[in-house]
Amino acid sequence: MKFDRSGVDALMEITKRPELVFVRGQGSWLEDHNGKRYLDFVQGWAVNCLGHCPAGVVKAINEQSALLINPSPAFYNKPSMDLAQRLTAASCFDRIFFANSGAEANEGAIKLARKWGQLHRNGAYKIITFDHSFHGRTLATMSASGKPGWDTIFAPQVDGFPKARLNDIESVRALVDDKTVAIMLEPVQGEAGVIPATAEFMQALRKLADDQGLLLIVDEVQTGLGRCGKLFAYELSGVTPDIMTLGKGIGGGVPLAALCAREEVSVFAHGDQGGTYNGNPLMTAAGVAVFDILTAPGFLDSVNARASQLSEGLLDLSKKWGMKGERGEGLLRALILDRDDGGTIVDTARDWAPEGMLLNAPRPNLLRFMPALNVTAEEIDLMLARLDEVVAKVRA
Ligand code: PMP
Repeated sequence: MKFDRSGVDALMEITKRPELVFVRGQGSWLEDHNGKRYLDFVQGWAVNCLGHCPAGVVKAINEQSALLINPSPAFYNKPSMDLAQRLTAASCFDRIFFANSGAEANEGAIKLARKWGQLHRNGAYKIITFDHSFHGRTLATMSASGKPGWDTIFAPQVDGFPKARLNDIESVRALVDDKTVAIMLEPVQGEAGVIPATAEFMQALRKLADDQGLLLIVDEVQTGLGRCGKLFAYELSGVTPDIMTLGKGIGGGVPLAALCAREEVSVFAHGDQGGTYNGNPLMTAAGVAVFDILTAPGFLDSVNARASQLSEGLLDLSKKWGMKGERGEGLLRALILDRDDGGTIVDTARDWAPEGMLLNAPRPNLLRFMPALNVTAEEIDLMLARLDEVVAKVRA
């Protein structure tokens, strides 16, 4: 079937898209308008943590949609209370505010830290963030991000986000002044190319924050909810952050995010924070279903087993093709290429026949892998074998 262009020109042009329309998905597989199947190792950018259309989430959405979709955030609803209780019981946090996207949760974290600074640190408002970090696409979260070029595209920026270097504690210390209120980072920088903060660095940040009376904020929009082999990536270093944001995997594909804070830091007054969709029962019911699957006995063990398999397989490919190794935590991994052919590999894998494969190259010399957390051993083997064929073709 020919690609039907009608409607394309009605969409705002925000990115280059291939001429295919996805019509259905199941687990690690997507199907396009021609019935061609694709093995999906992108999963909506780490959003579909249980793959496409997981039965438990479909059921929760169906049941909740027939009961109650949105009574307004001015009233309590059961799924949001259930999910908040689950998140607080499983983490070091005491209070949850639900949002609709990672960027919105991070905006909330920034506002909460500034409010805390007004109350407890003499109006301090600066939040130290990191070169190459990614926190979202609103003005404040773009300003917090360290993505090259983002300081000028929608200038002027929101003030107050000095940038340090990841894994360089002295670069953080040098930026602290009496206007600093917090340090904010991704435990593994995702968009930057899967660069983990070391455990020593996380611990040094916690100590610096304690010594200077600052808040430590972790943006776990990409790393949270089992992606890194623990429920939350901050557990990998054993630190206790003051604020955490979640997104992507928390809704298993639907728009849901969360701002999590310790009791002492939960300082919003009535009216400081809100939003008409926030914490609606339709999305939080999906979140409850996702959470219960992720925390079922043995689930994270299988994530770690698949992560080892993927890591070893990528390392073998790297050796075979003279690439520069692999890195990551859990099922957030990267293969570091020896040349800038990441984009060509992604395109060739997608266009492969009869079955395609979806990969992601956040940098020209790097492939990122974010499969469903319940990806099977066979699917990982298939992806590795096909990637080997794709590289052979691209480099022939
Ligand atoms: N923080 C991190 C670490 C992210 O990876 C992303 C998305 N890539 C965001 C925030 C923004 O999330 P969203 O696209 O849901 O606004």
